[in-house]
Amino acid sequence: MRVWENICETVEAGNRLGTAEGIYLFEKAEFHRLGQLADRVRERKVGSQASYVVNRYLNYSNVCILSCQFCAFARKKREPGTFAYSVEELTEAARKSVAQGITEIHIVGGLHPSLPYSFYLEMLSSLAALEPRPVLKVFTAIEIRHLAERVAKKPIVEVLADFKAAGLGSLTGGGAEIFDAGVRDRICRGKETAAEWLEVHRIWHEMGGRSTATMLYGHVETAAQRVHHLEQLRSLQDETGGFTGFVPFAFEPAQTRLAELGRMRRASALEELRVIAASRLLLDNFDHITAYWISTGLPLAQVALSYGADDLHGTIEEEKIFHMAGAQTPLGQTRGNLERAIRAAGRVPVQRNTFYEPVWNGEITR
Ligand code: SF4
Repeated sequence: MRVWENICETVEAGNRLGTAEGIYLFEKAEFHRLGQLADRVRERKVGSQASYVVNRYLNYSNVCILSCQFCAFARKKREPGTFAYSVEELTEAARKSVAQGITEIHIVGGLHPSLPYSFYLEMLSSLAALEPRPVLKVFTAIEIRHLAERVAKKPIVEVLADFKAAGLGSLTGGGAEIFDAGVRDRICRGKETAAEWLEVHRIWHEMGGRSTATMLYGHVETAAQRVHHLEQLRSLQDETGGFTGFVPFAFEPAQTRLAELGRMRRASALEELRVIAASRLLLDNFDHITAYWISTGLPLAQVALSYGADDLHGTIEEEKIFHMAGAQTPLGQTRGNLERAIRAAGRVPVQRNTFYEPVWNGEITR
C-alpha cells in the first residue's frame, strides 16, 4: 500500500518514478487506480484534447535480409509474397492520398539487399515534390543503419543529411522492440542494439529532426525489461527533447515464427491499457502517448484515452505489417471515425501534423 502512496505522491509532485516503482506499475498496481493516475497526468499535459493525424502508410518493399521472430511482413528475395514498388508507383499512390487531404506519408520497408541508394533518394524527392507537400515520415533506425553501412557505405550523419535534403521530414520509431540485449537475441538476432537504435535517433535529433519512439511488448520480455526500455527512451529525451511521442504496441502472434515456437500469448486488453498507463507515468518528459488503434482496435484505443493516452495515431489507409501478422483490425479509418471515437470518449478532437501541432480543429461529418 505504501508503495502506491509513494508513487502517487511522486507523480502528483511532478517528480520522476524510479525503476522499482516502474516494475510495480507493470506487475502490481491496482488497475483502475493506475489508470486514474495516468489520466490525471495526461490531463495535466494536454488538457481535454486528443489528437489524430490524417496520414497514409506505404511500404516500398518487404524484402529483408533479417528474420526477426515476431515479423510476418518480411520475405527473402526469391520467396513467394515479396513486393517492391517503383518510385513512380509509390508517388502515384501518394498523389491520390495527398489530393484527399493527408498531411503525412509514413514509409518503412525491409532491409533490402540490392536496391541502390539512389532509389531511396529518388523516392523522397519524388514524394516531397507533391502538392501540397506532405511530411515524409520515413525509415526506422535500423533501415538508416542498413542504408548507411551496407548500401551507401557512408557515416549515418551523412546519410541522414542526404535524406533530409531530399525531403525526409521525420524518422519513424520502429525497430526499438525491447532494448534488452537478451530479448533482442531471442526475437530479432542480428538487428541493431539498443545503443545503435538510440544513436541514430540522437544524431537525427542533433540535426534538428524529430522522431517517435516505440516499444513492442507482450512476447518474451519481463516487466523489468519494459521499464529499462522506457528509461532509456526517457534518458535520450532528457538529452535531446527530439521525441514527439511514444507508441507502444503489442506483439501480434498469429502468423509469426514466435507463434510457431509456441509463444502464442497475445496481450489482453487490460495489459494493453496497463502498458499505456505505466508508459504515461514513467515517460514524464514525453508529451504524447499514442493508443495505436491498428494494434488495439479502435474501441480499446478509445478507452485508452482515459488511461493515459492522448492520441489515436492516424487514418493510415492501408496497413500491412500488423495485418500480415494476423491483426483483425480495419486497414484504415476515416477522419470521421477517429473524430467520433474521440468525442465519445469525452475529449476534444484535434487533427495534428507529424509534429503534434494542430492543423485543424472542428467537426468532421464524413
Ligand atoms: S522486423 Fe524489420 S528488420 Fe526484422 S525481419 Fe521484419 S522487416 Fe526485417
